Parts: sequence; C-alpha cells; structure tokens
Amino acid sequence: MSGLIEDVCGRIESSKEDLAEIALRLGNTYGPLGNEEPTARVAYEWYRDNGMNADLVPMIEGRASTVGLLRGDGSGKSIIFNAHLDTEASGPEYDKLMNAPDPNKVGARRDGDHLIGHTVQNDRGCMSVQMVAGRAIHQSGTVLKGDILLKSAAGETGAAPVDEYQGMQYESKGLGTTWMVDRGYTADYAVIAETTDFSASWVQCGATYFKVSFTGRNMYTPRLERPDGLADHPNAIVRAAAVVTAIEAWAIEFEARRTVETPCGTMAPKAQVGAFRGGLPWRPNRSSTYAALYVDVRTLPGEEVAPIHRELTAVVRAIDPAASVDITMSKAGFGATEEGIRPLIETIRNAHEYVRGEPMPDKAEPAVVSMWRDTNVYNRVGIPSLTFGPSRGQAAVQGTGSMELNNMIEGAKIYALTALAIGGSITLGM
Ligand SMILES: [Zn+2]
Repeated sequence: MSGLIEDVCGRIESSKEDLAEIALRLGNTYGPLGNEEPTARVAYEWYRDNGMNADLVPMIEGRASTVGLLRGDGSGKSIIFNAHLDTEASGPEYDKLMNAPDPNKVGARRDGDHLIGHTVQNDRGCMSVQMVAGRAIHQSGTVLKGDILLKSAAGETGAAPVDEYQGMQYESKGLGTTWMVDRGYTADYAVIAETTDFSASWVQCGATYFKVSFTGRNMYTPRLERPDGLADHPNAIVRAAAVVTAIEAWAIEFEARRTVETPCGTMAPKAQVGAFRGGLPWRPNRSSTYAALYVDVRTLPGEEVAPIHRELTAVVRAIDPAASVDITMSKAGFGATEEGIRPLIETIRNAHEYVRGEPMPDKAEPAVVSMWRDTNVYNRVGIPSLTFGPSRGQAAVQGTGSMELNNMIEGAKIYALTALAIGGSITLGM
C-alpha cells in the first residue's frame, strides 16, 4: 500500500514541468464562456495522448465538456474531480462594454515557478492538477477498485440569457456539470477542483439574477421639465441611477442580516448591480425612455427566492413605483449533509496532512463559502461534494495573484491520495 503511495506521489513530483505545460496550453487556448469546445478538446487529446480513456461530451455547437475515465473493478467507492473550462465572457461585447483586457485573450504565462493569468487561476490550473493526479494513478498500473472521473466542465461561471442575449450560448452556472450528471457521469463523491487555499467547503451560496426595468418620456434637452419628485422624472436613467444607490445600501444591510456561520466558514451572501443600460450613446439630447439594471443576488442554501424578489421590488418601487423587477435566472445553493460528507472530508484531511505535513485549515475564506461552485450540482442530487484545491494567491481583483507550481503539485498529490483512499486502494491516517 505504502508502495503505491510513494509510486504515485513520485510520479506527480516529477510531473512539474508537464503540469506547467498543460496548464499553460489550456490557459492559452481561446475558449470563453459559450465556446468551451476548443479547450475541452485540448483536455480530451491530452488524456488520449497519455493512453487514458476519455469522453468528449458535446452539448451544442461550440460547447462541450470532457471526462477522463479511470475505471475500477467496481468493488470500491467512486469519486469525481470536477474543474471548469470557461473563465469569463469574451468577444466584441466584452471589449466594448467592459473596457478592460479580455482575460481569455490575455491568457496565461509562466514567471519562474508561478503561473499567472486568470484562465489558469479559474480554473484550468486546478484542471491540470487533477489531470496530472489521474495520470500518475493510471501510470502506476494499479488495478483500481472504484472509478475515478476527471471532468472538465463547460458553463460553470456566471451567465444567464436576458434581452437579445438568448439561448444555450448564455446558459451557465452548473450547465456542463448538470449535463454530465444527467448523462450518467456520476459517482459516490465529488471534489470540485478550484482554488481554496487547501480548505474545503461543502456548502455554497446560490444565485438569482434580476432585471429591473424603467420607462420614461422622450424630452429634448432644451424642453426638459423636471418635476419635484424623482418618481415623475421623465428620464428613465435618472430614476435608475437613484435605484442603483438604493440597491447598494440594501445589499449591504441584506448581506449583514443574512450572514451565517457554517461548518466550512462564514457565508455572507452579497448582491450587486452588475450591468446598466439605457439611452442612445450617440444621441444624448433626449431623455431616455428606457433603462434597465441587472442585479446579482447571492442566496443561502434553502432560502426562498420569492421573499427576496418582494424585498428588492419594494426597494426599487420606493423610488419608481412603475418600475418592474423580473427574475432572469435562479439557481439554488446547497450543502452536503455532515454525515454524507464525513468520509470524504476525513480522507482529504489525512491526505493533506500526509502531503503538506500540517493540518488543513478548518475554515475556508468567506468568499469561497459564499460563491457558486459546481458543488451545488452534486449536492442537489445527493452526491456529497466539496470544493478543495491549492491557492491562487491574493486575487480579489481580477488580474492579480498567481498559482505556484509546488503548491499545485501538493494539490495533485492530495487529489490522487484522496481518490485512492476513497476507492479503497490505500489507507491514510493509520
Ligand atoms: Zn471557478
């Protein structure tokens, strides 16, 4: 048994350059949200080139996921490692409306032992970590008891169809992972391979997107009449702007009121206005007859959305009684049961201690606990799931932080030992 541990860890240790190479290759493949197939194919070909089984799982033109497959003899428990292919939106709309370097075009680069770039940090670095872990097990030649599934999932990051942006191209948040679960790619446990600084979270927030719409009257600037109250202002943009301020104040209070302690850390469900539209940029001489705000509200597991909808509507209508508030996407958060997740969390704790020589952190940072991750897809269908992975450095602002190769190698060893221990091929912590 210990021979297998040393063999697999040794293979991973000597895979450092390979790990950097596949992480950068994935990170520099142009495959934004809605167009993940090119990156899915890179992962698929990598498995095939390494003599491993893999399935390409297409959804629609341009969108596909990949599953690397290590089949066991069926006598042990099975486990999924699940990373996501999409990193961010991209294309002319992104360039025009976000006015910032497109992370999909910036890609990733190496500086010494650091991998820099948002595509690697989220989430092709952890994808590479699980691929290298799986390959080491494959190359050890051990006959597995339980299956190991290594998923590269399309459509995890936040997006939802709205306005003229309709159809499957804009579906996300669990799309590819749900699709694969529905195709039968399931297991006894699932590890969502994302950066967590080696902490684990088996509860995650959900998310609901709202569209707030305003109507106005078309008035030429010299003829503009400003009534006393905002509610009667002819310009929809003016009322929308006031509502942005009100939603900001509400979001702060709403988050504080619902912040809870979980076994994995503090869950603080935030909200923000993420987009705004109204008027014709090339003709500002008219008050806008239309404006809209697009709001992202994070939800607690089990929290009902209808009361949030009513509360947000009240905030909006206190300023503009005629505004409408519509839900454009709603996906619930979930948590694994303590009993269900215990064997997996104890295995990861033991693997972490073995590899890193110290206890794993017992709490994840609030942002990790309070975001959407594909953990929700598995916990929703009763497959105990948690998110766990190496560090991306301090990266609250996109474009900062990096992944360190030795840190990723440690992550790969922990993944591999976890898979082998869950399947019953090795025993840890004895
Ligand atoms: Zn991610």
